[in-house]
Amino acid sequence: MSNQRSAIVIGGGIIGLCSAYYLVQSGWKVTIIDKGNLADNCSSGNAGMIVPSHFIPLAAPGMVAKGIRWMFNSKSPFYVKPSFDPKLISWGLQFIKHANDAQVNKVAPALRDLHLLSKQLYTELAANPELNFGFEDKGILMLYKTEKAGVEEIHVAQKAQQLGLDVEVLNHEQVQRLEPHTHLNVKGAVHYRCDAHIYPNALVKQLTAYLKAQGVDIKTNCTVNSFGTNGGQIQSIETSSGTFNADLTIMTGGAWLPELAQKAGMKIPVMPGKGYSFMVDNTANKIIHPSLLLEARVAITPMNGQVRIGGTMEIGAINSKINMNRVQGIVNAVPNYYPEHQVKLPEVNDVWYGFRPCSPDGLPYIGFSQKWSNLIVAGGHGMMGLGLGPATGKLVAELADSSSLSTDIKDYNPNRFN
Ligand SMILES: Cc1cc2nc3c(=O)[nH]c(=O)nc-3n(C[C@H](O)[C@H](O)[C@H](O)COP(=O)(O)OP(=O)(O)OC[C@H]3O[C@@H](n4cnc5c(N)ncnc54)[C@H](O)[C@@H]3O)c2cc1C
Repeated sequence: MSNQRSAIVIGGGIIGLCSAYYLVQSGWKVTIIDKGNLADNCSSGNAGMIVPSHFIPLAAPGMVAKGIRWMFNSKSPFYVKPSFDPKLISWGLQFIKHANDAQVNKVAPALRDLHLLSKQLYTELAANPELNFGFEDKGILMLYKTEKAGVEEIHVAQKAQQLGLDVEVLNHEQVQRLEPHTHLNVKGAVHYRCDAHIYPNALVKQLTAYLKAQGVDIKTNCTVNSFGTNGGQIQSIETSSGTFNADLTIMTGGAWLPELAQKAGMKIPVMPGKGYSFMVDNTANKIIHPSLLLEARVAITPMNGQVRIGGTMEIGAINSKINMNRVQGIVNAVPNYYPEHQVKLPEVNDVWYGFRPCSPDGLPYIGFSQKWSNLIVAGGHGMMGLGLGPATGKLVAELADSSSLSTDIKDYNPNRFN
């Protein structure tokens, strides 16, 4: 009889795949269970940015006022759908509680370290000849058109420099020099040279194939319905395709994490933050660097020979409706910054959408459940899950092995809202 330790990873998004990757490296026998086909989650169509620049969580000063101001604009980039849903109300109250300078300053160094660990791990993954996912280490440009956005971003850049990140403030001429093929209609930019980007669709596909080749059993179209527990442990996982058992369970689940947690008698608040993306041509007036259009909150990423344009954050229930008004808002923003890129409104079938798993304090959940001693939770990464996938996966494997952790995780305690 084999005495290899076994783990079940619930959810095959980037967090689940990376957890499986590092668990396998550490000698675990891994099964991934996913209710979909691994292509319909949040981890493929996103903007592909690896973002040490995002050391400020979403729950930050100013976001509450912006959310309220934008609530009544159908093309706005950030939107909270008003509702009496008690889950949304309680999430919103926690968000407001955490959106202050003291909290943001407290968590910034830990978040920076988590991002830098992940970027380092991405560099190592990119060196694996079996994985080719378009990793490019040339940073991200935060482009601004107005004095106000410039002042705010330069303030963030100064904080980033104090935290030791590689960041440069650029005037119009300097940023234009970085994009020689296309005209930029901006006042200036901050170049977060510490950031990087990838083609996430390729990463997800190749990681899946790689894990299969390593012997990972991937069960798709298999929904976790309930947990059998005994003696403070998860004993069994009941799914639409039968019962599974393992020594250890890793609960990911993205925007569906709260329902999964509830099935195990736990409270882990996450609201879905819906966003859209689509691909456009990048042959004429070629864009070289990824960018965030600051006033519009739109992300532009050159990948796989094209450009991915993405944006909006609609906090509300999970649904499959594509709000073309908001897609139009994204489309309208692009030529304001890149005048030669007169983007056409995509066909509805060409619009991808995904649900960012947003925790109320903007920090991920990484750690053991206090209720079930053989359950690790990994989720709630909001707008940074792609970037933080490898670090999260590595930490999951380190927790599983009870070995020393690559970075401190006390701010990410999954039991913090119990
Ligand atoms: C427009 C947009 C742009 C973005 N850009 C970036 C970016 O540039 N950089 C970045 O870092 N992040 C970005 N993000 C965020 C990032 O995509 C997410 O944080 C990340 O994909 C979350 O990964 P996950 O594995 O937690 O969740 P998911 O990818 O959603 O995976 C969760 C999985 O769990 C499965 N699951 C759920 N419930 C069950 C159940 N009961 N039984 C079985 N399986 C279940 C689901 O089927 C799903 O496959 C962006 C998001 C959007 C929407």
